[in-house]
Parts: sequence; structure tokens; C-alpha cells
Amino acid sequence: MTFNRYQGKAWDRCFFPRLSKLQVADIPKENALVVLPVGAVEQHGPHMPVFTDTLISEVLLTEAFEQLPDDANIWLLPAIPYGKSTEHLGHAGTITLSATTLMAVVMDIAKSLRKSGFEKLVLVNSHGGNTDLLNMMGREIRIETGLAVFRLDPGGLGGADEWLTSLEKQAGIHAGDMETSIVMAAMPHWVHMEAAPTEYPNYPDSRYLALKNRAFAWVMDDLSHSGISGDATVATIAKGTAMTEKYGAYIVEALLAFQAFDMQSLKISK
Ligand SMILES: [Zn+2]
Repeated sequence: MTFNRYQGKAWDRCFFPRLSKLQVADIPKENALVVLPVGAVEQHGPHMPVFTDTLISEVLLTEAFEQLPDDANIWLLPAIPYGKSTEHLGHAGTITLSATTLMAVVMDIAKSLRKSGFEKLVLVNSHGGNTDLLNMMGREIRIETGLAVFRLDPGGLGGADEWLTSLEKQAGIHAGDMETSIVMAAMPHWVHMEAAPTEYPNYPDSRYLALKNRAFAWVMDDLSHSGISGDATVATIAKGTAMTEKYGAYIVEALLAFQAFDMQSLKISK
């Protein structure tokens, strides 16, 4: 698998800003779905580029658009490259937006899309630190613009599960096997495997302290010396290629489900 930005259907056919204003105006808006990826520029341990999260988003979406039907009427916006990465501040290379800045940017993009007549937007997120903010903004955008707003965090779809140990599935939350394998497969020379660490924080096993329930607030320095949580040493290009294809297939299913979904169908008819 080779990843080339601006090559493939995602970029050459479905990249929203490659269209002229006339082409955008001609898009049938009733079932058009606009995809806004939100990434991050933040430390990913000593072995991976700080662009990891945004790159992974582009790689997975490139694969998904390859698998989508040609006439899908689903359009890809440029990723917002920066996210809310305040939990990694102090680690070299981390560039974060404040929460209010990211909220304002996402809202401004949504309002602009509404002005162009679009009705459906999906916020695709590839960085855990953005999740809560984007969930909240989904509702704010719904209220402010009337857009139907969907949320997708590909990392939560389980597209890597069959290749991960149970410990890695639980604790490999940052720069571990999954992220390292995917970046290796896409951009092998951007990964420094000789520096790849393995570090599993001592996560409590009490249900009241579960990491995934966000039971306690943390910054990366609370969790880890190396800046990772997981095992990066077992990452391989072969796994990364297979994971990318699997995630791509799940993203396709999600996008088609969002596109077909009618908000009006939620309320029972009287
Ligand atoms: Zn990441």
C-alpha cells in the first residue's frame, strides 16, 4: 500500500475544494454528505511523526473513498490539521488549538456549508482529545444551522481488533501497535522503529476508574514516561495495510448509513 496525498478517488474525484463553484452548486443537496476530518499535531512518542493523527485520518479516508461507489455524492473537505492537544503540551512538537478556537473553526465551516445549501455533515475524528469537544459541537451545529450532524471516530470501530492483543485493545490508546502499523504502511520512512517503545501505564481495574469512561482527567505526563500508551515494537507494515483496509470498509458502511438516514424518521408519526 502506498499513500499519496492528492491521488486516488478521495482527492481526484471527491475532494470538495477541487470543484468549481458551479460544480458545488450543481451537487444535489438532499442526500449530499460532507465529511470534515479533524486531526491533531501532537507528540506520538519518540518513533512517530507529530502529524500521526491527521495523517491516519487522510489514509483511512483515502481507502474508504476508494471503496465507495463512484456516484456516492459524498464529499471530502480538507482535514483540520490541528486539534485540541493540550494534554500533550510540553512535549516537543505538540501544536494545539484551544478548545474555544477549535469550536469556532468547526462552527464557521458548518455555517459556510449551510450557506452553500448542504444539509448533512459528518465530523470524522482521529484524536481522542477532540472527542468530547466534537460531540458537544455536533449538537451546537445542529441547533445553530439546522444541519444534520453525524459523528464518527474510526478508532472506535474496532477495525484493528483482530490484530491486537487484549492488553493492547484495552491500553494501547496512544502511538501503540495500531497507530504505528498504519503510519508504517502509509509512510514507512516517517517511522523510526529503532526508537519504538513499549509502555503500558498502570491503569486501575476498578469499574469506577475506567479510562474509557473518562473517570479521571489526565494529561500524558500522568500516564507515561515515553509519551505513548501501548506497544509500538510489534507494529508491522502488513498489519497496517490490513487494518487500513478494514477501517476503510467500516468507514464506508458508516458514511452510507449517515447518508441514508433521515432525521425526520426519528419522531413517530401521529
Ligand atoms: Zn494518535
